[in-house]
Amino acid sequence: MLTTGQKLAIQRTDRSRLSETDLENIKFGRVFSDHMFVMDYANGEWGAPGIVPFGDLELSPATLVLHYGQTIFEGLKAYRSEKGGVNIFRPQANLARMTRSAERMCMPPIPEELVLDGLRELVDLDRDWIPKGGEASLYIRPFMFATDEYIGVRPSDTYRFIIFTCPVQAYYKEAVRVKIETYYSRAFPGGTGAAKCGGNYAAALYPAKLAQQDGFHQLVWTDGLEHRYIEESGTMNVFFRIGDTLVTPETGGTILEGITRDSIIDLARREGIATEVRKVEVREVLDAIAGGTLKEAFGAGTAATIAHMSSIAYDGGEYQLPAPEQFAFANRLAQLLDDIRRGRSEDPFGWNLHLP
Ligand SMILES: *Cc1c(COP(=O)(O)O)cnc(C)c1O
Repeated sequence: MLTTGQKLAIQRTDRSRLSETDLENIKFGRVFSDHMFVMDYANGEWGAPGIVPFGDLELSPATLVLHYGQTIFEGLKAYRSEKGGVNIFRPQANLARMTRSAERMCMPPIPEELVLDGLRELVDLDRDWIPKGGEASLYIRPFMFATDEYIGVRPSDTYRFIIFTCPVQAYYKEAVRVKIETYYSRAFPGGTGAAKCGGNYAAALYPAKLAQQDGFHQLVWTDGLEHRYIEESGTMNVFFRIGDTLVTPETGGTILEGITRDSIIDLARREGIATEVRKVEVREVLDAIAGGTLKEAFGAGTAATIAHMSSIAYDGGEYQLPAPEQFAFANRLAQLLDDIRRGRSEDPFGWNLHLP
């Protein structure tokens, strides 16, 4: 692993925006904390890491990422712990995933330990930006992009890595109407579905917009070859409760390996819930609806934790699901996860990085 061995330089803002920010009334992703972590890659190594005031970047119009999309990102959260201090949820898992995304996008691996130190310092410095309240958190956005000023198609020689944070309030959780997509694809074998790379999201906007025009909130993506197996729901992983078994598609290159997904699988097994990680056929889900055994269907991801589905549409038909209050597994697992993150319970898997 590459490390610079250089100490983190911290340049504090002399004009905090915190006092003029109404943390009770913020829109997701529009309000940014005072500082950001920045580090540049050049000449085959990462340069000195630093924390500086959050601010604009100046880029050449020829900056490589703007043309060919060589960029990756992550998303994780920090929570006020009810035991005092702050918990950052599974940051090592996000940084490990980012290294996997980097490899797929032909970018240098990130120095995970160094970045983890920077992330911890950044959250510590801006911890007052975490809104109070049982559903609030600090969303953390690490990302990396190609910075060569060059418009030839090749991997960049230089990169910038940044982390900034956003205070976020409770995610408004309306149960979602979803449509199983049978024409467009998000991912295919050998593609980039498992990488958190910018292009995946750009390519999903148009099919999602078409579905929204038909009144759906989100698409359920199916495999790119046959549209026969269920893969993900929007930008979340997906779970079904069929009878008393929790079922989620196995990853394997086309599905993003969600950390919420992974945590839910661990918690469900610990709770003694029968949990199957395997291919899930669209037909199986439709049959379960018809047979009355599909009791719950939900998305899982960092932003919302769990997104209950209210109905699933397929091939012109739309099938109703039980009311979200009746999703006993989803609600219990979301509660267990939240209790761990907010320090209300023990942390049996050692998931929190705790800042006293
Ligand atoms: C980020 C993401 C997820 C969820 O991952 P988490 O680590 O749980 O936030 C699922 N699917 C896609 C496509 C994603 O980009």
